[in-house]
Amino acid sequence: MKKLSIIFCICTLLLCNLLAGCGSKEPAPAADYKLRVVVTFNAMKEFTQAVGQDKIHITSLIPDGTEPHDFQPTTKTMQALSKADILIYNSTGMERWVEQATQAAANPKLVIVEASKDTDRISLTEADEIRAHGQYDPHTWLSLSCAQTEVKNIAEALAAADKTNADFYRKNAAEYNQKLQALLAAYQKKFSKLEQKDFVTGHAAFAYLCRDFGLQQQSIEDVFASGEPSAQNLAKLTAYCKEHNVKTIFVEEAVSPKTSETLAREVGATTQEIYTIESSNGEKTYLTRMEENLDAIYKSLKK
Ligand SMILES: [Zn+2]
Repeated sequence: MKKLSIIFCICTLLLCNLLAGCGSKEPAPAADYKLRVVVTFNAMKEFTQAVGQDKIHITSLIPDGTEPHDFQPTTKTMQALSKADILIYNSTGMERWVEQATQAAANPKLVIVEASKDTDRISLTEADEIRAHGQYDPHTWLSLSCAQTEVKNIAEALAAADKTNADFYRKNAAEYNQKLQALLAAYQKKFSKLEQKDFVTGHAAFAYLCRDFGLQQQSIEDVFASGEPSAQNLAKLTAYCKEHNVKTIFVEEAVSPKTSETLAREVGATTQEIYTIESSNGEKTYLTRMEENLDAIYKSLKK
């Protein structure tokens, strides 16, 4: 089924190119030409928007509400890739389809940017996960320090593609990174004073966030929230929550909250939303959601 849909995409694309092309020359870009940047999921959009602001045109490839870990490119994705100047994605472990899709799009001018390049990645430990998702945990954007590297990488890619506005992109990136750094420093200070460092969540998306603050996530499901949690794992978590008097179980938007609610009821805790920033949450920015995440985790650990 996957193969068929990719072949279909390629055929549609070839046809589009044939109809549009016919040997005509590309017109030179106008002076007010805006870079056409395609991004994969919401955190990539947030970083790119902060850097490019009104000087670029952004299109998201993964529709809101679609779980980015399960996304498969469609004809629409291929059309966007065939017309774009730059593609910004997080990592091969997150968007596994990028290599194949960009090859199929055969857009010679497309610059492909892996935003998480040069971040210090955390290795996965489960053999099944490594087989399905590669060697590393992909959730780098949930670290305020890795995010700064991603923002820098995006700014350099935009600066290289659009030299007229290079200073504008670099200045925006520096200003944005100052805000990320300030939030990081403020919560490093707060978390360092706490004794309790473990919080309980649905899907294990927060390893990078934890590393920034010396925290530990206890999760109902694995890094990719696939399959049902085992009874054994649930029993262990229940015992953990009772022993440590855990009052909050965090729930991510894309994960079914049912198991979290059951666990919360069992141990006398309440559930609270935590953002993975894989999809949008109304008008909330990356910074707002990260601050709300940190504040909620902090309050849940402070006794
Ligand atoms: Zn995830």
